[in-house]
Amino acid sequence: MRNHSDYDIIVIGGGIVGLASAYKIGLHHPNIRIAVLEKEKQIASHQTERNSGVIHSGLYYKPGSYKARTCAEGRKELIEFAKKYKITHKICGKIIVATKKRELANLEKVFENGLANQIEGIEKLDPYGIRKIEPFCQGIAAIHVPFAGIIDFTKVAEKISRLLKKDKQNKKVITSCEVKGLDKSGEVTELTTNREQFTARYIINCAGLQSDRIAKMAGVKCGLRIVPFRGDYYELNKSAAEKVRGLIYPVPDPDLPFLGVHLTRTINGTVECGPNAVLAFKREGYGKKDFNLKDSWDALTYPGTWLMFLRHWRFGLEEYRKSFSKRHFLKQLQKFVPKLRAKDIKPGIAGVRAQALGPNGELIDDFRIERTENAIHVLNAPSPAATAALAIGEAVNEIATEHFNL
Ligand SMILES: Cc1cc2nc3c(=O)[nH]c(=O)nc-3n(C[C@H](O)[C@H](O)[C@H](O)COP(=O)(O)OP(=O)(O)OC[C@H]3O[C@@H](n4cnc5c(N)ncnc54)[C@H](O)[C@@H]3O)c2cc1C
Repeated sequence: MRNHSDYDIIVIGGGIVGLASAYKIGLHHPNIRIAVLEKEKQIASHQTERNSGVIHSGLYYKPGSYKARTCAEGRKELIEFAKKYKITHKICGKIIVATKKRELANLEKVFENGLANQIEGIEKLDPYGIRKIEPFCQGIAAIHVPFAGIIDFTKVAEKISRLLKKDKQNKKVITSCEVKGLDKSGEVTELTTNREQFTARYIINCAGLQSDRIAKMAGVKCGLRIVPFRGDYYELNKSAAEKVRGLIYPVPDPDLPFLGVHLTRTINGTVECGPNAVLAFKREGYGKKDFNLKDSWDALTYPGTWLMFLRHWRFGLEEYRKSFSKRHFLKQLQKFVPKLRAKDIKPGIAGVRAQALGPNGELIDDFRIERTENAIHVLNAPSPAATAALAIGEAVNEIATEHFNL
């Protein structure tokens, strides 16, 4: 007979991906008993809370990739979800702006990619077209992406959590509950936590910045390591915020999974500028001087980290400059909005990306979901995973349905 600690599925991690996975499995299998375990006092305390809040359209991602598919599907579902549950959001559109001739070839590639991914309504802009959309922005060419938008992903996660908790009998979201050990014994896995022992037939690892460690606990050799990349933001003062109407993005470097410092109007009406991308010495540390011995050891003893440094050292130095020099950060913003001044920007939030790194120093670009006999591990879910979360949840449900005999 089941006791209160027995579940069919336990999801580790109460960020938007874990919650969306539990929600989707619950929709398809209403009688399945699921618990989401979250180590923090509140759900969505890490990447889901600390991001740009942009509903991405799916323009950048390699056609046919997990990212391209789930971003396109997830965006549509997210907007329907937000409309249905009255979560404030806005489809404000975005522009990707080239400010130098040498960026034009990459801008063209992004446009072609957008067409291949069938992104609705994208069009090329000349300098006049840029100013019609963003009067204070300068550039020599741009792409307009009308269906990009903004939302607060924490609000989405909170709504999903409330929907799960409505089914009191079968669904639980348990906070302040850190999974510290996993032990498979026969048909069930025993989960040791700081609170009590739980048992589940199946586990789903959605632990974000800790996902490689949870996989290791489960005995999975995943051939990658999560390397944390902190992103610092500045915020525009109220008067300067009028200089940005929507979303202004740079042309991305095709060799890197980071989109570059952008200006983002948030759903709260503020304008965030950032994030840069520097190796963080603490996985869940948001201050520039935050340090954790285990996290630093894990990052610096991994050969992939050094191979990545070798490959991207110029980019790395540039990002550290942005982190420590306000003047330099401002210069990057002035490329797009020349009228911004030092007095217009003040330090804002910071976030840490869970970026999977391969053993040869490759920054793993696509989402990665692995399966074993009794577990699913979401091992790489960086941006746009918040936009794509409902579609990732659907994919997790499909894997679980097929392989877990639900
Ligand atoms: C700076 C930045 C900007 C971004 N901008 C965007 C954007 O504009 N649009 C977009 O779509 N995406 C964006 N992203 C990406 C997006 O935020 C993430 O892809 C998404 O939030 C990942 O969700 P998650 O649930 O996997 O991770 P998280 O939100 O990090 O959740 C993982 C959870 O697991 C919990 N956990 C870890 N270990 C344990 C354990 N042992 N026991 C129990 N719980 C545990 C953690 O506490 C955490 O709450 C951005 C990310 C960053 C960092």
